[in-house]
Amino acid sequence: MFDVVVVGAGLTGTYAAWQLEKKGMSVQVLESMDRVGGRLFAKQISSTQSIDIGGGWIPGGTKIEKLVTEDLNLETFRSDIQKYPDVWKCPNFLQLISEFPEGVKYPFEAPKEWLNKYDNMTASYWVQHESGENEECKNDLLQFWFVGRADGPYRPDSVSMLNQIWYWRYLLIEVGGKDYYGIRGGLGQVPVLLAQKLKRPVRLSDPVTIISQTNGIATIATLKGKSYKANHVIVSTSAYISGRITYEPPLSWKRNQLNQNKPLGTVAKINIQYLNKFWLDNGGLSGKEGCDTTEYGQWSCVTPENPEEENMLTLCIDATDPNSENGLIVCLIEASQYDLFAARESLEERKEAVLQELATKWGDEALDPIHFEVGDWPANPSTQGCYNSAWPPNVLTRFGSAIIEPHGVIQWANTENTPYFPGETEGCIYAAEEVIKNITGVDIMK
Ligand SMILES: Cc1cc2nc3c(=O)[nH]c(=O)nc-3n(C[C@H](O)[C@H](O)[C@H](O)COP(=O)(O)OP(=O)(O)OC[C@H]3O[C@@H](n4cnc5c(N)ncnc54)[C@H](O)[C@@H]3O)c2cc1C
Repeated sequence: MFDVVVVGAGLTGTYAAWQLEKKGMSVQVLESMDRVGGRLFAKQISSTQSIDIGGGWIPGGTKIEKLVTEDLNLETFRSDIQKYPDVWKCPNFLQLISEFPEGVKYPFEAPKEWLNKYDNMTASYWVQHESGENEECKNDLLQFWFVGRADGPYRPDSVSMLNQIWYWRYLLIEVGGKDYYGIRGGLGQVPVLLAQKLKRPVRLSDPVTIISQTNGIATIATLKGKSYKANHVIVSTSAYISGRITYEPPLSWKRNQLNQNKPLGTVAKINIQYLNKFWLDNGGLSGKEGCDTTEYGQWSCVTPENPEEENMLTLCIDATDPNSENGLIVCLIEASQYDLFAARESLEERKEAVLQELATKWGDEALDPIHFEVGDWPANPSTQGCYNSAWPPNVLTRFGSAIIEPHGVIQWANTENTPYFPGETEGCIYAAEEVIKNITGVDIMK
């Protein structure tokens, strides 16, 4: 009998387990994959370099930074990513988010008039028909800011405007343009190191299939026939993935609907290592992420609303560790562009298409990497997408609150049901701390 069983050994699950053990609770973590980390995965590609196949950068001055640098003693290096500057050029959007009431913790808690008006419309609709912004700003919002961030990444014609408002209000007004950092050895080490601190090893390669509850005690059964009893259960998967488990008694209708209506985004993350950083000399990418349409980048962002465009790479970022002699480029293929990538079936076809596209910008040196690694997250059966799950229109209004409502002794904790930084590793820490408070009555956020 455990105090807590945690379903899923991603960052949220391992961080929650570690914190609960520190409070003297007995905890068992169960994981369906054959490794710890979920959407974080660091892979060693040479004796001196690791790459992040999943999440890679963290903002400074945050809880995740403290965990990485103080608790786990990992080294960070400043990344030249510029986050969020261009939205400042969109005055009507800024005005709108500045009017959003303060203190709204989760987007489904927004006042009724905001839910009624903005959860009813897609982000694209607002930009095209309601925003009154100039064309340059409309492009920036649609091509970049509304795709890979708050929702998904999803096409802005399929996500709720209300969630965009909630997300950007917090990020722009309260967080501002923080610096972002890479982690030497990879951000993916973090859940692995947390798991190593646990008293009981994470049980791998054995998905939880049924969670039943009788008289306030949960029985958690796995595919390989193991069974655990616990006073509390934390399900740390996304809502969609949580819906594949059988619950007895069954989930509420609202939670069932939420699970069906919150799809994961489509992204492939490509790590491409080169002998040197030739793109800096060629006047190519400066190390900042960006699109042609913005003033600070020289890379082309394709238009998410025009999936017939031939280019696949939504954005590319110089991810080189300053300590490394080799250069590392990370390219992200987001939203509809992923479909073009996935339509190429073999790794060789995909590699050729990505490198050819880079070569059109940077010349033939781009055709000759020393390492090429694909993180194909939508094809991973345990995550089925990334970076996060979307809020399509009206889902917040109709089923939103179910994302945090406990089901008996089951609590939900994942990067998607956090009050801050949804979809990011910082969101995992907040989500875990919320459920720890529910279970122990102790607010470790303070
Ligand atoms: C390509 C990519 C780039 C990203 N970039 C960044 C970035 O730069 N910065 C940043 O902060 N964030 C980034 N993210 C997002 C970040 O990685 C996620 O927010 C975070 O890892 C989510 O962690 P989680 O623990 O909440 O969920 P998950 O990582 O999804 O963990 C859930 C776990 O549950 C397991 N599981 C599922 N079903 C079962 C079952 N039935 N039984 C047992 N276990 C189960 C899964 O295998 C998984 O391990 C990125 C993600 C990706 C994929």
